Amino acid sequence: MKIVTNYVKLALACLAFIPTIATAENPEAPKLKVLIIDGQNNHNWKSTTPVLKDALDSSGVFVATVSTSPPKKSKPEEWAKWQPKFSDYDAVLSNYNGEMWPDAVRKSFVDYVHNGGAFVCVHAANNSFGKWKEYNQIIGVGGWGGRKLVRDGVWLHAVDGEIVRDTTTKGGSGGHGPRHEFLIEHIDTEHPITKGLPAKWLHTKDELYCKLCGPAENVEVQATAVSKLTKRNEPMVLTVKFGKGRIFHTPLGHDAEAMRCRGFYELLQRGTEWAISGEVVKTAEVPADFPTAEKTSPVPAPTN
Ligand code: ZN
Repeated sequence: MKIVTNYVKLALACLAFIPTIATAENPEAPKLKVLIIDGQNNHNWKSTTPVLKDALDSSGVFVATVSTSPPKKSKPEEWAKWQPKFSDYDAVLSNYNGEMWPDAVRKSFVDYVHNGGAFVCVHAANNSFGKWKEYNQIIGVGGWGGRKLVRDGVWLHAVDGEIVRDTTTKGGSGGHGPRHEFLIEHIDTEHPITKGLPAKWLHTKDELYCKLCGPAENVEVQATAVSKLTKRNEPMVLTVKFGKGRIFHTPLGHDAEAMRCRGFYELLQRGTEWAISGEVVKTAEVPADFPTAEKTSPVPAPTN
């Protein structure tokens, strides 16, 4: 009997140490670890990375760490020192648009996603690596970076809520007009990332990317916005599957002002959780200040 009691005590002691994931109510629990990659971008990554970090950390669910690549035109020995350990993280977020990574980093990244790692692609990260086959499969579609419609894949967009995979329109991939506020429409309101959120909401001033193209394999589109340039509904929230990995991709987020939108924060949190686990539970609560179809909802600048 004494032995049985000890077993019970031991079992209870073990249970007490089973980690639970952090939520706003339980801030001391272990958090989901996200690695933000930056260091090169034709956008101001030094001002946007802190906003991306705030968007994740402020949820109470994630803790974001930053890995900064060497600057442009660095020598190979400098690149050799940059070896982000993707597999140490629950998710990797790219705020990078620059020179090709060294082969070892590329292989480790592809292996990470293929083996079930989560990847988050934000704005100009989809301009990067136009010639890298697996990267294009991972992001689904991208713009610029030498990409051409038809030659490098389908132009993915939507008409009346239905996905169109245009295989005939030719020309350069990627485009946007002047920054402006625009309406985001959730064409899939049952996906965990969009479920429960207002189906139409006004995004803060941002670039509205259009004519993104790529292999678009295993891609679903959850949200679109109407481009004044193409008159089509261009994808604003996409999810991709690559091997066992899940990818959340948003072309939103040109600069810090564009990212400091409650809608962007919410999508980034939900999209990252979904990419990690395939569900949205910990970040599902809809914030009271979520934008409406008529009114944007800017987020104050992070203080750290
Ligand atoms: Zn931009």
